[in-house]
Amino acid sequence: MTQIAEVAIPVPLHNTFDYLCKEEVEIGARVKVPFGHKKVTGVVLSHKDKSKFDKLKEVEEVIDSEALLSKEILEFLLWSANYYHHPIGEVINNAIPKNLRNGKPANIKKPSEITNTSSSANFELTTEQTFAITEILKNLEKFSGFLLHGVTGSGKTEVYLSIAEKVIKNGGQVLILVPEIGLTPQMISRFEERILGRVVAVHSQLNDTQKQDAYLLAKTGEAKVILGTRSAIFTPMPQLGLVIVDEEHDGSFKQQSNFRYSARDLSFMRAKFANVPLILGTATPSLETLKNVLENKLSRLNLSTRPGKAILPEVNLIDMRAQPSEALSTPLIAKIKHYLELDKQVMLFINRRGYAPIYYCTDCEWQSECTNCDSKLVYHRSINRLKCHHCGIEKAPESFCPSCNSKNLKILGSGTERLEENLETYFPSAEVIRIDRDTTRKKKAFASHLKKINSGVPCIIVGTQMIAKGHDFSNLAFVGILDVDVGLMSTDFRATEHLAQLLIQVSGRCGRAHYKGEVNIQTRYPNHPLFNYVKDSQYTEYAKTLLTERKDTLLPPYAHQALICANAKDKNAAEKFLNEVAQLINNIDIKSVEIWGPVPGVIEKKSNYYYFNLYLQSADRSELRRLIQTFYQHVEKIKVISSVRWYVDIDPIE
Ligand code: ADP
Ligand code: ZN
Ligand code: ZN
Repeated sequence: MTQIAEVAIPVPLHNTFDYLCKEEVEIGARVKVPFGHKKVTGVVLSHKDKSKFDKLKEVEEVIDSEALLSKEILEFLLWSANYYHHPIGEVINNAIPKNLRNGKPANIKKPSEITNTSSSANFELTTEQTFAITEILKNLEKFSGFLLHGVTGSGKTEVYLSIAEKVIKNGGQVLILVPEIGLTPQMISRFEERILGRVVAVHSQLNDTQKQDAYLLAKTGEAKVILGTRSAIFTPMPQLGLVIVDEEHDGSFKQQSNFRYSARDLSFMRAKFANVPLILGTATPSLETLKNVLENKLSRLNLSTRPGKAILPEVNLIDMRAQPSEALSTPLIAKIKHYLELDKQVMLFINRRGYAPIYYCTDCEWQSECTNCDSKLVYHRSINRLKCHHCGIEKAPESFCPSCNSKNLKILGSGTERLEENLETYFPSAEVIRIDRDTTRKKKAFASHLKKINSGVPCIIVGTQMIAKGHDFSNLAFVGILDVDVGLMSTDFRATEHLAQLLIQVSGRCGRAHYKGEVNIQTRYPNHPLFNYVKDSQYTEYAKTLLTERKDTLLPPYAHQALICANAKDKNAAEKFLNEVAQLINNIDIKSVEIWGPVPGVIEKKSNYYYFNLYLQSADRSELRRLIQTFYQHVEKIKVISSVRWYVDIDPIE
């Protein structure tokens, strides 16, 4: 019997496509269909009695005899597509591993062995841990949201493990999302050691077969724990019993290309669809999450101290106005020396890789800049090249100033590479371990650095924000933070929130065992109010002042934003397009939405494309949604020159 199947196809179009199908086909199954001159893999969304189109093409092959996407996952994907106004075909494409996207059969190839034992923790839980666990266990059978607000090192992971154990004992599966660089071998092995059953980690370093196996092991229910980065939110888990988002404040839960979703935000709907509890864990909750607590959408559970003898470190400032203009101040060098003599580890955080961020002429104003982007080229000494950190081009440094022909060219400022070199001069016998994108490019490099640090040998760790998160280094006694002042001066309204989170997270890396750690922050603005809160670990109090500011100025989370971004090689074309969009939107009769722009992007030119933004904001989310829907219905009227690329970003964070 021939039937009509509505099929989602991975193309940037907002409609779905009808095909005739001679075989039985389940909703959620993949089919191979002709599309234009090509054959593509699509997913069946529904069966239809009739189509508004005649002359339908035929499904060429039914790939899955059994649905690949269950009803529950499909509903979740449709909800996501609708919320982000993104084509369902692309949303599905983003959600399934490459092999399955390309139509490969859904068979498990080489499941990894189950290596775990099930050992219990060798310590007593604290009263706060026990309370948090009991509260969540009371709510296993329904959707309920929790903020597990625990200072760094307070034992949040122990809470996850205890609840996960229980959920799995009851026959459930557990989904844990972690930030991009938070998925460490240490984290994986903690779950493997404790959980009876298969633990599957999903991350970018898996090959395509491993990714497909991980997906299918989750789908068949064989994997009891799925530990993954943001895209794991779409993993099919028929027995899903608990969703955890660790370090919920982390920016990497937002995807910043193509399908722009926030896995943190979507975790609410995922848990709601499955009717199970959601735990958002962090030491530094985002303002969005704190507002949800104030509005009783999340219940807060506190872990206010570190267990056992571990205590939070003491935080002090170094006033850089009184220091020579070097990367390392005299007091900082003295501290490093002191802690190395005690056989402790020391960590220095600087959020810039490379050797020096500026290459310039001392005789005129010239600075080496990228020809494709609005950005300075960064000097990398090991390869003696200037590199653009936005588009990746590189070249040999000029030997004459292109502007005045002078030979007096110099570098200015410091990145991780130069800091490493300075430290080797000051402390010739100390081991320096640098962790940044340049030193961890090779597959296993990051893991082997971490292994060394975890062995506890005295050393100096230098790194970018790759070292800020999640790690638990027990012999680390001192943290130095360099160059945070950019964050204080930023025009981004979220900059101080993010800086406070970063400072507390970085500080939290030390003093985890029986040793009170110490943190020094170098700044030229020691009187900035943010530091008082960071010094006293008063994140919540600081967040409260920020929330009040946002409320008074009507900014997120007290307003909802959407961004329409256009970019083109021709600057005028991008701006003109957005001007027309602005006009169109102004004609839509929805008054509660404010429009701002078009304005140039923070970096206006990237890889030879000029970026412009149009911001939409409303206190009423449904009005904003309605406006964007209307905009999509009419946008075809604007004649887009093919060279203009554009997208809509819902709840933008940049
Ligand atoms: P967080 O996830 O909050 O950063 P972890 O769960 O990693 O904290 O715990 C930090 C350290 O404290 C770990 O080494 C963990 O094994 C240990 N720990 C956790 N809970 C307890 C406890 N109740 N008693 C003693 N040590 C604990
Ligand atoms: Zn010059
Ligand atoms: Zn560039």
